[in-house]
Amino acid sequence: MKIALLGNPNTGKSSVFNLLTGLRQQVGNFPGVTVEKKYGEIIVGGDSHSIIDFPGTYSIYPRAKDERVVYDVLSDSNHVDFPDCAIVVVDASNLERNLFLFTQLYDLKIPIILVLNMSDIAHKQGKIISTEALQEVFPGTQVVETTARIGIGKERLLRAIQEAPNGIKPVSFLPDSKICSVDDLLCQEKEANDRFTLIGNVIKRIEQKSAIQEESRTSKIDRILVHPIFGYLIFAGILLLIFQFIYAFAAIPMDFIDTTFSNFSGWLSEILPAGLFSDLISQGIVPGIGGVVIFVPQIALLFFFIALLEETGYLARVVFIMDRIMRPLGLNGKSVVPLISSVACAIPGIMAARTISDWKERMITVLVAPLMSCSARIPVYTLLIALVIPNERILGVFNLQGLVLFGLYALGLVSALTIAAFLKFLIKTKEKGFLLLELPSYKSPRWGNVGITVLEKVKLFVGDAGKIILAISIVLWAMATFGPSNKMEKAAIKAEISAKRQHLNEDATARIISSAKLENSFIGILGKIIEPVIQPLGYDWKIGISLITSFAAREVFVGSLATIYAVQEDGGGNKRLIDRMRAETKKDGTKVYTIASGTSLMVFYVFAMQCMATLAVVRRETSSWKWPLIQLLFMGVLAYFGAWITYLLLI
Ligand code: GDP
Ligand code: MG
Repeated sequence: MKIALLGNPNTGKSSVFNLLTGLRQQVGNFPGVTVEKKYGEIIVGGDSHSIIDFPGTYSIYPRAKDERVVYDVLSDSNHVDFPDCAIVVVDASNLERNLFLFTQLYDLKIPIILVLNMSDIAHKQGKIISTEALQEVFPGTQVVETTARIGIGKERLLRAIQEAPNGIKPVSFLPDSKICSVDDLLCQEKEANDRFTLIGNVIKRIEQKSAIQEESRTSKIDRILVHPIFGYLIFAGILLLIFQFIYAFAAIPMDFIDTTFSNFSGWLSEILPAGLFSDLISQGIVPGIGGVVIFVPQIALLFFFIALLEETGYLARVVFIMDRIMRPLGLNGKSVVPLISSVACAIPGIMAARTISDWKERMITVLVAPLMSCSARIPVYTLLIALVIPNERILGVFNLQGLVLFGLYALGLVSALTIAAFLKFLIKTKEKGFLLLELPSYKSPRWGNVGITVLEKVKLFVGDAGKIILAISIVLWAMATFGPSNKMEKAAIKAEISAKRQHLNEDATARIISSAKLENSFIGILGKIIEPVIQPLGYDWKIGISLITSFAAREVFVGSLATIYAVQEDGGGNKRLIDRMRAETKKDGTKVYTIASGTSLMVFYVFAMQCMATLAVVRRETSSWKWPLIQLLFMGVLAYFGAWITYLLLI
């Protein structure tokens, strides 16, 4: 048999799936964790059945992207996944809403095993559900009580599966309904109303409440956590803690990865026979892989915390309290997590937007998330601030450099929210945006699940975005290595002669030669080609090259400048690079880096989509190149004009 696992979100379908198959499908205390079908196998009484875990839906009528999966299968009886039998998992503590989908499926005459899951919670709430009465109301249906989280009810469920094919009885729940196919159920308001009225009557028959009902632990906690004042304060406090933690601890593995990869490159270039192949590996591929792996600590840590908040049920509260603030901006309460995550890195942020079921709100979130100032901008900001912003105090208290840094972060946040509000009017959709959210009960996190979430996100990033980052790194390497051949050679010879004349040592000579080669490589030529375009912003072709190379990732900006100015970063950090940059003059003798051009560059980096990893992830998450390209374009336009205006104002 093909067995479909169906039910509302967050009722424990994946838990039942794991219970039956022994597989470890991701489970989460948050609606929308399963967004694709998952397959498994079970053997009952010698027969092997395939079992499919579907995303949760509230009805057969599809509203969100993940709900469509169920509709597509059920509306086509020739579909490979069309089930012979359905296990409908319902939250026994919340029967009224849960039975809606069940009765729709019942009317489709699919043999059903009705699983009353979360019976532990129902019992705690003092609800006693009569499975016999349920079986009477829905003849042909087998009803099984489970607590899937801790594995109770597995045997009962297996027995029901064995008997499932005998259970079909052609009875309809809705009287005088002429439902023959899924499409008969679509958009029928009357159908929905009738169903709920009938379900209300059924509930009265099958459910008894014990007389005294204590206020549950969950609602006691919620009085504080969703409180209109304390709720926000507590959330802000938790965020602060998480960010402190990520900043404090991600840096260690990131530095480690950084040094490991650069040592490895150095070692490779020593042991491999000199030549193009060696260069490709040591300067193109290995640093390219390093550029992927370096994001892993932040992604892993961030998702560790998000998974933790999600597992306990707290995340749903955050969404609930933030929805009020986000909605006028075209965003959703669920946008909060992606936006906040993006301050560390837009990649996990954009991946976190998956839980937003409304297409438009999800899209807006994905589009504006990279405007939040991520940690890759920090090296760029700090270098430029040290270079052009005087270290002065303002009003005797504020450090001017610190203020500028704060201003850059604020600019990112404000523009993200403003653009979201604009996009709200620009993006057309037929779907209506509303938040259908239940607050799940608080549960202690299960560490296995936290681990699985972290692993899945890291795998997703390394596997998909990684490929693209690697490819572009190789292209950038090739463009910096090759050029119109005799031009590059001539420049190299010239540089060598001038170095000899100045009696420079071996290292300095090598640096001058590589700098001359870079200037005449394809990427150097490209820098010169774009020079007229970036001149109004106050930049020269050398900055142009860095703008192009740092398209790979923003922090590459600093490294590229270092190569171009032929200085190596030594123990003194950026010191020597800074000195060279300070001394840098244009042809007319004026300085290249001034308050105007430096600030203009910073503003450029606030807005520009200088991160191919993010573009790769957006492509993956929207499954088209259209959105990443739109994003690249509007952020580029914003960056250009923002930088231009800044330059004009400050010059
Ligand atoms: P799905 O969205 O329907 O796939 O549901 P999941 O399997 O992801 O489970 C949602 C949440 O409910 C998770 O936190 C589970 O640990 C929890 N859960 C699942 N079954 C039970 C149960 O029987 N009792 C309780 N208390 N929690 C459960
Ligand atoms: Mg699931």
